[in-house]
This record gives sequence, C-alpha cells and structure tokens, in this order.
Amino acid sequence: MDYTALAELLFPDITKSISDFEEKYPPRDLPAGAVVTRIAPSPTGFVHLGNLYNAIGERLAHQTGGVFYLRIEDTDQKREVEGAVEAVIDAMNFYGVHFDEGVTKDGESGAYGPYRQRQRKEIYQTVAKSLVQRGLAYPCFCTEDDLKAMHDAQEAAKDNYGYYGKYAVWRDRPAEDIKAELEKGTEWVLRFRSEGDPEHMIPVLDGIRGELKVQENYTDFVLLKSDGIPTYHFAHVCDDHFMRTTHVIRDESWLATLPIHVQLFDILGWERPVYCHTATLMKMDGSSKRKLSKRKDPELALSYYSEVGYPQEATWLYLLTVLNSNFEEWHLANPDADSRAFTFSLEKMSTSGALFDLEKLDNIAKEYLARQNADFVYDGLLRWAKIYDPALADRMTAKADFYKAAINVGRGGEKPRKDYGSWSAAAKFLSFYDTATFCITDACPENADGDMKREILTRYLDTLDFSDSQEEWFAKVKQITDALGYAVQPKKYKKNPELYKGSIVDVTNLLRVALTGRQNAPDICEISHVLGEEETRRRLTAYMG
Ligand code: GLU
Repeated sequence: MDYTALAELLFPDITKSISDFEEKYPPRDLPAGAVVTRIAPSPTGFVHLGNLYNAIGERLAHQTGGVFYLRIEDTDQKREVEGAVEAVIDAMNFYGVHFDEGVTKDGESGAYGPYRQRQRKEIYQTVAKSLVQRGLAYPCFCTEDDLKAMHDAQEAAKDNYGYYGKYAVWRDRPAEDIKAELEKGTEWVLRFRSEGDPEHMIPVLDGIRGELKVQENYTDFVLLKSDGIPTYHFAHVCDDHFMRTTHVIRDESWLATLPIHVQLFDILGWERPVYCHTATLMKMDGSSKRKLSKRKDPELALSYYSEVGYPQEATWLYLLTVLNSNFEEWHLANPDADSRAFTFSLEKMSTSGALFDLEKLDNIAKEYLARQNADFVYDGLLRWAKIYDPALADRMTAKADFYKAAINVGRGGEKPRKDYGSWSAAAKFLSFYDTATFCITDACPENADGDMKREILTRYLDTLDFSDSQEEWFAKVKQITDALGYAVQPKKYKKNPELYKGSIVDVTNLLRVALTGRQNAPDICEISHVLGEEETRRRLTAYMG
C-alpha cells in the first residue's frame, strides 16, 4: 500500500508537517525542574470538585517556577453548555487558582495556543496525516451496526472487546476498497494501527503512584472521529506535547487508557509527560464505599461549596487534608498559616479512593472560622449573603456594628466557640440576635415551666443590672437558683433529684430560650450586651407570657 498516497487522499488540505509545529511551539525556556501543567475541563457547565482538586497542579507549577494553564477540551460539541468556560474560570478564581496562560473570559493568552481543542484541528490532522504516511493509521468505514455486530460476536466467543486482530476488518484492506468507500462519501474514522502485544507489560512512571506496569495496547483505537475531531486520547497526546506539558495531573479513571497514551507518545518519538493519577473521590454509603456521583451527590459540584458558603480556604484545608498524607500534620503545626505556604509534593498524595466526608469538612471549617476575627467573618458572611440571602445582607449593612458584636460573642481566647463552619450555618446561627429574625424554636425546660418560669424571670428582671460584671451577674443567677429551690450544683441535683425543683441548668436554659429561642446558645451575659438592655428586657418579659 502506498501510504503517502493514502495520506494525501485522506488529508488533502494538510500541508504542514509535525516539525512546523515543533518550531512554532518550542520547548519552554524554564529553569530545570520547572513543572508545566494544566487543568483541561470539558465545557459541560458542571464544574466538579475534581477540577479544583487537580488544580493543585498550580501549586506544583508555581513552587518550581513553572507554568499552569487552562485548556478547554471542547471536542464533544453535544455536551457543550453556554457560559461553561466562564463558569470554570469564575470557580477557579473564587478558590484563588490563577492561570498563567490559556483560555480567558475574552479569548486566551499564551504562546502555545489555541487552547480550545476545536481550534486545533489542523494540528491533530497534521499528526494524523503523518501517522498515515508511516502506515500507523488507517481509515475505518464500519458503521455503528458493524461495531455492534463485532461486539456481539466477541461476547458470544468470549473474546476481549475492541477493534483488533481478525475483528479489525479495515486494517489491511486494499487501497481500492478504501478509495471506493471514499468516493461513495461513506463516513470514516481514523484508527491507530497498533502493533502492541497484550503479553507485553510497559513500565510507566506515575508521579503519585511510582512505577506502574501497564499492559501494552493491542487495539486499533480511534484517533479521529468522523467529523475529523480527535478523541480525548489523541488530543491529549498532541496537546500535551505541543503545549510542552511536563506533568499530566488527572483522575485515576484515566489509568485504564494510559496504555494508549504512552503508546502514542512513544511511537511519535515524543517525551512522555509525568502522569499523575489522582485518587477518585469516594464517599461512604451505608457501610460501603462508592464513587461520588453527579446524580446522587450534590457535593460533587464545586458550586455546592460556595452555595453552602464554606470559606474558600477551609475548602482547601479540607481537600489538602484528604488528598495529602502529610498536610494535616503540617496544618496542626501551623494552624494560622495559609495553606499555600505548605510545600506540596506529589509523592504524598493519596493513591486510592480519597474518602470524602462532609462532616469532616464542616469540622475543619468550624475550626478555621473559630480562629478568624469578627471583621473577617462579617465580611465573608456579607459577601455570601449578598448572593444567597439579600435580606440578611441588607440588615447586616444597616447594622454593621451590631452584627460584628454578635459575631464576636465567644470569639478569641483559648477556647473560641465553633458554632458554624459555613456562611449558611452562620446566617442560621446568628438569626436570633436580630429582632427581625428572632424566633423561639426550643421548648422551655420542663423543670422551669409554668409558675416557676414567671417566678424566675421576674426575679431575674428585678435584679438585672447592665453594669454588673460577669461574676456579679452569675452570683445573682446562683442566688435566684438557690432561693427558688433549684440546685446550684447540677451534680447535687442528679444525686438527689427529689430534694430540688431542678438545677441551675434549668434556670440558665430558661434564660437562654427566652433570649435566643434556643437552649443551646452562647453566654447569656454576653448575648444580653449585644442585644442591649431594652431588647433583653423585652424578650424576657415577652417570654413570661
Ligand atoms: N477533559 C478531561 C477531563 O475532564 C481532561 C483529563 C486530563 O486532564 O487530561 O477529564
């Protein structure tokens, strides 16, 4: 077969050669050891947690004086959604991820573009043409039905699936047959002609997993689809070569097709990038582990975290904790340091099923927010509320000092309160302060209800003095407790409940419910000072009924 003639027949418009593109995209002039990496999302409108997780590459790139870029893998036009590219860029910006080059909101920047795959057709076809010229690729005119029949035959014969061996019906067809189909205008795909031997195991170095051995690919996989657009496999190899990517950080689901990728790099004589396959995010479902699913788990969408309102840094702290075995220790030793100060290393990344657990995220976020000052929390909450709770944003703006004082309750000191880890939880938690949102949600403690409720509240109001110190205030509460037959020490009540009406816990919980609507709330004295004397007295009186 005259492969040169075949190549001309298939790609008459391609006049450039691979070396033209080698010249156009020369090796980058960077310091030794510099990492060039990217994220390469498809513009489906769904930005998932994995995109942020793989954007960890930014840290690696910037730690080494390298380059981090954004490529858009838009070869599947059917799945493309308008505004999806902006959504990726916004989401990454939100988490403080910055690209040195690649697709931008109004175009792109960088010398290795275009960075949108659909604009790179000429590059793929040039490489494809060269493979045809070398006898390493050929057109296949199988229809969907032909492929289905092949699959059924393989199933019946218990053979491996795929286009190979005797099933590769177009692999060695004479030129006349090919020409005849082309003349008829039959659709074709371009397949790779694999000489791989399934008995061969190929070593591949994975930056996270170490040396892997993968089975050599023996199938004639598709390089170009019938519209001339490449498959992921072919596009990935061409793009990461010409964009001079040194590290490909991607989900472990790509391990299955890794043999195809290394085969292409090798046959093209291009240096393989360091593959870094990150662990798939898993979660516990009952007692078994499963992959996070787009359909079942809202937390797979990155937007979930901004909607719930986890502070960006808390989300990072959590991700790094799950993904890097040495991060938690570092964070404990440097609790106030920005996570960007952590020296990130691929070898410490998890290699299998990173277990995702929202409760743990919430705990990390609570710890994080507890360490921030009131201004930080106020600003973060206000930013969130402007989007998700405009009425709250209005109230916060109108009464900034009041809200800051409320946020400040229980903050600072050795053991700051950890009431909320997200802005939505903060909004809910703080709602009792503002008269506009105050409501009674918890019941009156049983031991302090009815006549006793009125008696306790009357005495409390009679003795309430806003100039009292915390100690003086507490001494008065103890006095009322004792005088009304409640145990000042809860232990004593527990031991001999018949001797008392209840304990001081009932008395203080009554005050809490009256003031905050809840039995579980921060310090009564501090809350009262935030509410002010008038509102405090009003709530206590109202609760008397
Ligand atoms: N478009 C691919 C994805 O979203 C990119 C994988 C890669 O990073 O190579 O999974």
